[in-house]
Amino acid sequence: MTEHFIFSGHDTVALAQKYGTPLYVMSEDILRANIARISDAFGATGIDYSINFAGKSFINKGMCKIVDSAGICLDVASGGELYTAMESGFDPKRVCLHGSNKSTEELAMALDYGVGHIVVDSEFELDNLDRLTREKQQEVQILFRIAPGIEAHTHELIQTGKTDTKFGLPLELAEAVILKTLEMPYVKTVGIHCHIGSQIADEVPFLRASEVMLTLYKKLKDAGVPLTELNLGGGFGIPYLPEDPTFDVTAYIPKLVAHVRVLCAEMGIDVPKLVVEPGRSLSAPAGITLYTVGTVKTIPGIRTYVSIDGGMADNPRPALYDAEYDAVICDRAKTEDNTQVVTVSGKACETDLMIKDIALAQPTPGDTLAVLHTGAYNYSMASNYNRLRRPAVVLLKGDQDAVLVARESYADLVKNDRIPAWLED
Ligand SMILES: *Cc1c(COP(=O)(O)O)cnc(C)c1O
Repeated sequence: MTEHFIFSGHDTVALAQKYGTPLYVMSEDILRANIARISDAFGATGIDYSINFAGKSFINKGMCKIVDSAGICLDVASGGELYTAMESGFDPKRVCLHGSNKSTEELAMALDYGVGHIVVDSEFELDNLDRLTREKQQEVQILFRIAPGIEAHTHELIQTGKTDTKFGLPLELAEAVILKTLEMPYVKTVGIHCHIGSQIADEVPFLRASEVMLTLYKKLKDAGVPLTELNLGGGFGIPYLPEDPTFDVTAYIPKLVAHVRVLCAEMGIDVPKLVVEPGRSLSAPAGITLYTVGTVKTIPGIRTYVSIDGGMADNPRPALYDAEYDAVICDRAKTEDNTQVVTVSGKACETDLMIKDIALAQPTPGDTLAVLHTGAYNYSMASNYNRLRRPAVVLLKGDQDAVLVARESYADLVKNDRIPAWLED
């Protein structure tokens, strides 16, 4: 008897049979363990801190409930993410609104809900917020997003802290813009923020960013801005492949805190509240995607294509970033011999290359295939390309399993379609 692939205590072949494929599977136990690891690391330092889960990596009402009960805060990056959090009953005071081009509607929505913090991205947005808060006579606490000019080694499209970026205030302009808030009656600047990129495996750029940001922090404090928070963003990398480097967050946090303490002592300032915004490092390892193997086509002397019943519509990262993933045939998880190097391809009418050259245990039509570490930026980036229905998300906790997001129906696909009068027969 070959053994099935077990994920978070559950037989993945049985999950595929029960819920159908493609299927996102999230483990609440792994999510909570990942959150606890970083909370414990901060807790041990004795510093004032906040962990804000980056909702854009994986958000829906149930996920907001998990974040809420884990006692951490939530970053949202749009009106839609904010709405989702509010519909789940999340405390708006523990929500922080991000976004590089927030609309007036989104800013007003955040004010109306009473979100705890807004991270302001530009002078234009600041002026808009100043006007809105005067109209509503409502105070708001903000942080400014700064582009600290740090190049982190990661895919170019997910480097976001360089000087040449759409995100945030350029470092050299930051002081002049932030000082304007001293004249604003309702806009209270409580901190500065940076997020240098995503899937970063090395702690050096984070430590460098903390130096650049603390230098600005000190300058602003001296100029009378009542800052108390330094938010250093997310971006901690995870090993998608067994040979990938691991970003050890439990080693990084004490190192960061020690570094910040030394710098603050040298500058003669109080240590600010430190905020981090991990998304991927909390959610990616907590998820897998289950697919059913369909066509297996061998082109003699070239390669074997293993087709799955999902692809770039449910996981666009390989197409966007050349992202690489590990996978396993769930029906024969323990088989180490009899493997075959194949290419896993999605079903979209595109090349839709999911995994190039991976050793799998004799993939056969009808097998369940699990792609690993898909808990971040898969469900949240999914599309209906080819009018594929977005998969269901199932949540596992202990020995329980339940639907977190229902599978889309064909009716869902046409529910917003309208036929203009002149097209009616
Ligand atoms: C995307 C993003 C994050 C989370 O990044 P991860 O790489 O998923 O940890 C945090 N903060 C901001 C502002 C972001 O845009």
